[in-house]
Amino acid sequence: MSPRIGIVGAGPGGLSLARLLSDQGHADVTLLERSERVGGKSLTVTHEGLGHELGTCYLGTGYTTVRKWMEQASIREHALPRQVIELEHGERTTFEDYVLGGAGRIGAAAQIARYVRDWILFHDWELRGAPDDAIGTNGRLMREEVADSFLDWLRARDLDVVARFALRSMTVMGYGATDRVPALYGLRWNMPSLLWAAVTTQIAEPAPGWSALWTHLAYDLDVRLGTTITSVERRQGGFEVHTDRGPFSFDHLVLTTPLDEAAAWFPFDAVDRAALPVDGETLRWGEMVSTLIDAGGWFRDSDTRCWEARAKDGPSVARGQVLGARRTGDKTGVAKARSRTRPDVYVTYQYGSPDRSDADLLATLHADLAAEGATVNTVLRQCRWRYSPQYTPEAIRGGAVARFERHQGRGNLWISGATASHEAVDNIVDANERLVERMALAFAGGDPSDDAAFENIAQRFRWRLDDK
Ligand SMILES: Cc1cc2nc3c(=O)[nH]c(=O)nc-3n(C[C@H](O)[C@H](O)[C@H](O)COP(=O)(O)OP(=O)(O)OC[C@H]3O[C@@H](n4cnc5c(N)ncnc54)[C@H](O)[C@@H]3O)c2cc1C
Repeated sequence: MSPRIGIVGAGPGGLSLARLLSDQGHADVTLLERSERVGGKSLTVTHEGLGHELGTCYLGTGYTTVRKWMEQASIREHALPRQVIELEHGERTTFEDYVLGGAGRIGAAAQIARYVRDWILFHDWELRGAPDDAIGTNGRLMREEVADSFLDWLRARDLDVVARFALRSMTVMGYGATDRVPALYGLRWNMPSLLWAAVTTQIAEPAPGWSALWTHLAYDLDVRLGTTITSVERRQGGFEVHTDRGPFSFDHLVLTTPLDEAAAWFPFDAVDRAALPVDGETLRWGEMVSTLIDAGGWFRDSDTRCWEARAKDGPSVARGQVLGARRTGDKTGVAKARSRTRPDVYVTYQYGSPDRSDADLLATLHADLAAEGATVNTVLRQCRWRYSPQYTPEAIRGGAVARFERHQGRGNLWISGATASHEAVDNIVDANERLVERMALAFAGGDPSDDAAFENIAQRFRWRLDDK
């Protein structure tokens, strides 16, 4: 008999896992979602008939499973090929040219080849459950190397091309300054397929919006919206979940929500607490702010723009200056025609922090546009997101990733979503594809965390050149 599986959270983590489980024949899956909508940090806001992404936006060539689901749902993609970066001294260039400007002595192709070689070793380490004693690519322990900042990791390998790439893919996207974010996350996110998609200008977004994709996936699933969990009891071989809509009994429970928040209603025991980042100390969250504005006199010659000087400058990032923006008013022919006759619509990105009020962030936004000769006509929506959970370098060095991986499935408890991989849909779906294999093994009475289980994952998910 198929086990009863409960998933807390119907964001990309929960929905993709439920879909993958169902595809494998494990259909007794119920998602408990606190809010009244699915999609979590994917949020398409409709303004004058057009959808605009306030949360998840981009997809690259490596989003293979997501693309398959989009195809099944007849969701087209809208290409965003024109990505421009304003350089420190004020000139503008395309993102591809900017990245390749770091070619230096050994050349861009050689740097990328070197990066891919080391990335494959890192990826293999991850697939094997991040063993503590594995040696890294520069001779130290892997867990120590990936606790270094991503910038240090890249500099130690002379990879300026990738460092330039990461300024846009990490710092501008809210994942942190490259001299602070642990290489673990830089490597998880900057997979070869992402570099490939960006330098070949194949970045896109789902044309009707990400919300359309998640709504489509949810259609076939048992999703209980507006359900607040009050407490969970661990029973022999299962869980009793108490909610404001009554109790649910599950054999297996998956948490996709922040674990520090879940501690308010989930009875984590001492063994859980030693292995999982429940305390809010070993794993820290940041904040990303996206704002939908109607603006006049701003850029119209590219899909996105970002600012090198601000992204490189810690105080600008901390002040919440606009690091990136996307022109989002021209997804269709009709919209393009309209945007010639009226002010355009943009989504801007700033870092938030607890001491910055909404009004402070908007004042900075207004000032940044004014400095470019543009005007914010209307602020249509501002969203503040708890974002980018990352282990501290000390935790990574101390073997937190291996402990986390080896804890999966203990007492039939599983962890998915951004905490388990990285704050990006592709990482989450990839991690879920591996998790489903391990869950199936556990359902069949096997140990999802023994060497054979990780060896199986390493064999099945090893990176191949056509993984783009
Ligand atoms: C501004 C922004 C831009 C982004 N851009 C990209 C991009 O370009 N490409 C990309 O791949 N990714 C992007 N992302 C990241 C992507 O959106 C996230 O990684 C993804 O949404 C995380 O999925 P998740 O399921 O882990 O968490 P979430 O999306 O946060 O979903 C968690 C769900 O759990 C629910 N929940 C929380 N607590 C409870 C509870 N106690 N009980 C029940 N339900 C609960 C929440 O309501 C939510 O629906 C972006 C995100 C943001 C905010």
